[in-house]
Amino acid sequence: MTELNFDASEIDTSAPHSARMYDFFLGGKDNYRVDWEAAEKIQVLMPQVKETARANREFMHRASRFLASHGVAQFLDVGTGIPTEPNLHQVVQAVIPGARVVYADNDPIVLRHAEALLAGAPEGRTAYAQADVKEPGKILSFARDYLDFDQPIALSVIALMPFILDEEDPYGLVAQLLEPMVAGSYLMLSHVTSEFDPAIWDRIDAIYRAGGTPVRARHREEILPFFDGLDLCDPGLTLVTQWRPDSDMRITEPVAVYAGVARKA
Ligand code: SAH
Repeated sequence: MTELNFDASEIDTSAPHSARMYDFFLGGKDNYRVDWEAAEKIQVLMPQVKETARANREFMHRASRFLASHGVAQFLDVGTGIPTEPNLHQVVQAVIPGARVVYADNDPIVLRHAEALLAGAPEGRTAYAQADVKEPGKILSFARDYLDFDQPIALSVIALMPFILDEEDPYGLVAQLLEPMVAGSYLMLSHVTSEFDPAIWDRIDAIYRAGGTPVRARHREEILPFFDGLDLCDPGLTLVTQWRPDSDMRITEPVAVYAGVARKA
């Protein structure tokens, strides 16, 4: 069963959008000239950016499969991105056909393509909301119609929190989303880091900022507090390609993203 929370927003092609630039980096087709022009400027600064996006996406596959194979059957994925196969529900419904997935993203282009996020296994359930992570209450109240908050839920915020500045309370927003979830729930998070090449990040931020979405890379010790009060699963917060590597990975070289999965006690 599938649901869409419709909002007839227009696609803005006057400025680059983070979702469409990420789609470009992944080799997708849902991006416009304004997006690939900005994306190519980033690629000059960060030649590995396409591998970085792919490695991040592959973490989503491994982490969601890991949790589904540990019996987690409900996922709340915020900052979903433009659909790219396999999407999270396809990964987890391959393990648990009845798994339920609620997606949310604030970019209208993701809404436009959301049908692809909703074509899940008949036993399962998927839903999509156009919503901003800065409104956790709205996301949670939407999710309550589809997920059972008496059972564990995995909150997935993959490559999302770099778009939340320090003054927007990134740690508090993740904590608010986790707050109503029961013990045995999980957080899966990845986050780009400026540790390896700090000099380029002001320029990368300027390119994103011109599109209206500043970006904030963080150091490992600034990413760890997202997991405060949770128990990190092995191997902890690692570079993304070192997080439970498997034979399906196409990108195995280190890239500038940290990733971790943690359990709520
Ligand atoms: N999680 C996906 C996509 C990452 S790209 C993956 O890892 O493959 C980042 C996504 O976050 C984009 O789709 C962008 O539209 C979305 N995003 C950025 N800021 C957001 C916000 N404030 N609220 C909700 N989504 C946001």
